[in-house]
Amino acid sequence: MSEAGPFDLAGHVAVVTGGNSGIGLGMADALARAGADVAIWGRNVERNEEACEQLARHGRRVLAVACDVSDEREVDEAMERTVSALGRVDSCFANAGTAPDGKPFLELPLAEFQRVMRVNLEGAFLTFQRAARQMVKQGGGSLVGIASLAAVEGQARGQHYAASKAGMVAMVRACAVELARYGIRANAVLPGWIDTPMTRDFYREGAVAERVLPRVPFRRWGVPADLGGIAVYLASPASSYHTGDTLIIDGGYRIY
Ligand code: NDP
Repeated sequence: MSEAGPFDLAGHVAVVTGGNSGIGLGMADALARAGADVAIWGRNVERNEEACEQLARHGRRVLAVACDVSDEREVDEAMERTVSALGRVDSCFANAGTAPDGKPFLELPLAEFQRVMRVNLEGAFLTFQRAARQMVKQGGGSLVGIASLAAVEGQARGQHYAASKAGMVAMVRACAVELARYGIRANAVLPGWIDTPMTRDFYREGAVAERVLPRVPFRRWGVPADLGGIAVYLASPASSYHTGDTLIIDGGYRIY
């Protein structure tokens, strides 16, 4: 019998929050294609079901759980349902996120600041903590936070979004150090300009396309499938000694 390859995810269970759309769906699709059973968590039941149908084509077990990641009780229930249906959690992608409303900093209401922090940072905290508790019982796993270039660059009109993503990167590093003793790795992925339902209208604005696209060496927006490979790598044994890192997937935008 041949030994499993480093990217083989047979018998692996992955959780992807926000897995019913955009980057999360792109990652969930690649994980299922690589052999993983996948649980997607999101609030919109209809979108959850549509994504499930797409993912099920790869012949793996797929579970959709209605969950608002900013609600502690719902995250507890989602984790219980996932483990009860799929048996374990080997990788967990804290990808669910919300965009800033674009108000200038001088007019940014506290309530809007808190809304974004609740989903993007508190949601990732709750998701990671519940996943890590399960992974400790199993003897290891992989936590992956989907942050943003906003964590390391100055995002005008998005101080709260940037702070939530920088907070996620810091939390990932702290988890990497503390949880290594349990065999748990923790990494952050920083996507660049990816065309998804969250960003589509914004990217279609002439000024954004005119100013940003020429600074992307590939001269195209990223697509959700561009994040599939990194998801498989970080879930799989191929990344067994890789932790505490921030991996930028931006078509070269940052270095150009
Ligand atoms: P989408 O709008 O396509 O996806 C967002 C996902 O998050 C949806 O599945 C949505 O599902 C889910 N979601 C939002 N709020 C919650 C919540 N409270 N609880 C559970 N799920 C939630 O956007 P993207 O794919 O673009 O975004 C995915 C992640 O990538 C986000 O964290 C975003 O910040 C990050 N990112 C995106 C970039 C881009 O260029 N697109 C660049 C850098 C980072 P539902 O509404 O059903 O709950």
